[in-house]
Amino acid sequence: MFNALSDRLEAVLGGLKSRGKLTEEQVDATLREIRLALLEADVNFKVVKTFVARVRERAVGTEVSGALNPGQQVTKIVHEELVRILGEQSAPLDLGSASPAVIMLAGLQGSGKTTAAGKLAAQLKKKGRTPLLAACDLQRPAAVDQLKVLGERAGVAVHAPEAGGDPSADPVAVARSSIDEARRLGAGVVIVDTAGRTNVDDAMMQQASDIREAVEPAETLFVIDAMIGQEAVTVAKAFQEAVDFTGVILSKLDGDARGGAALSVAEVTGRPIKFASVGEKLEEFEAFHPDRMAGRILGMGDVMTLIEKAEEAYTAEQAADLETKLSEDSFTLEDFLEQFQQIRKMGPLQNVLGMLPGVGKQLEDADVDESQLKRVEAIIQSMTRHERHRPDVLNARRKRRIAAGSGRTVQEVNELLKSYEQMRKMMKQMAGGRGGQEQALKQL
Ligand code: GDP
Repeated sequence: MFNALSDRLEAVLGGLKSRGKLTEEQVDATLREIRLALLEADVNFKVVKTFVARVRERAVGTEVSGALNPGQQVTKIVHEELVRILGEQSAPLDLGSASPAVIMLAGLQGSGKTTAAGKLAAQLKKKGRTPLLAACDLQRPAAVDQLKVLGERAGVAVHAPEAGGDPSADPVAVARSSIDEARRLGAGVVIVDTAGRTNVDDAMMQQASDIREAVEPAETLFVIDAMIGQEAVTVAKAFQEAVDFTGVILSKLDGDARGGAALSVAEVTGRPIKFASVGEKLEEFEAFHPDRMAGRILGMGDVMTLIEKAEEAYTAEQAADLETKLSEDSFTLEDFLEQFQQIRKMGPLQNVLGMLPGVGKQLEDADVDESQLKRVEAIIQSMTRHERHRPDVLNARRKRRIAAGSGRTVQEVNELLKSYEQMRKMMKQMAGGRGGQEQALKQL
């Protein structure tokens, strides 16, 4: 996600950190680099211009504060201005008071609408709502079936025309009847997936606009593929004019393309980005927070999102149990395995670790693959219960047996024991409060 941009900005701003007082020339040279980095990342040129002007005005005029050196101060300003470009405040869904509340998705074909509809449904369901998915994309042959599959996976009902993806069926009528269906099922939210074309097209806009009029959505979300480049701004403006929307979903933010065009959409349309879609799996969908995203772009990590994911993956009981174990120093290899499994629930390891400050960049070189986790499982499962609880009994003979049983080498068994020991220490520090937590993060 924004890897190249992130690397460049970090390099430019990192170069400033060690310097003393900044001259105006240095500020200008830095801004030139930032400008190039943003343009190369496909951020719209007008947005870049505004951004650089705002940073310059503040950077040149600021008093040097006691706590920060001038380089840090510029970093802080760049961070704040990035937050501003990204829309400043987080904008949660606003479903109003109508029942059912309607959320309509619009965007080009292939932008990720159908996928986002499924993800949104899964997320609302997790929050205790009862959503209904309405399949009104009758243009793309497989869209109806795709939505049905997603609905099944999310455990959410799907309303579709009788004949499946029948292009002669009327999408406006399907949208309208989905409201009755929601009332019949007692669903409080209807998520309407609409048809897109590969390019901005009058018929598509008219249809989206007609559906909007027919179902009066509380939220109309424009889905935009973060990888489409400079064109994003034109497409967003066209949709805003023809259909108008209340918020944006950025999709495919997990791609390593430049992605910067997506950064322009909030500034250009004045509509908030509400969600980021970061993968093909249902759970790879996050509420968008401008400050956290700016932090990730500048390599400051996103500890808040990580904590929220952990909260979703852990029940309060599990957390309390872990804390007791840590304070009693009875964290066993079984617990270690369980931790690994919990972390896997938080999403692909790469995404999870990438949210830690300073880790994002290192990850590109480090080969953290899921098969590593499978190895850990195999080795621990080859141990006896006694061994899992008392790893100190693991002598060379036992290690050979475990290695043979799991199809791994003794060296791998030793490596695992070392990681277990490290995790045990780290968690103990984390349980030891904030100071410990910071220390633990530094060790990562
Ligand atoms: P629609 O035509 O707008 O409904 O687009 P789809 O939802 O069918 O998405 C088009 C393609 O993009 C599909 O292959 C999806 O699996 C993929 N896709 C959608 N969202 C994401 C995402 O956030 N990340 C990745 N990597 N792929 C995505």
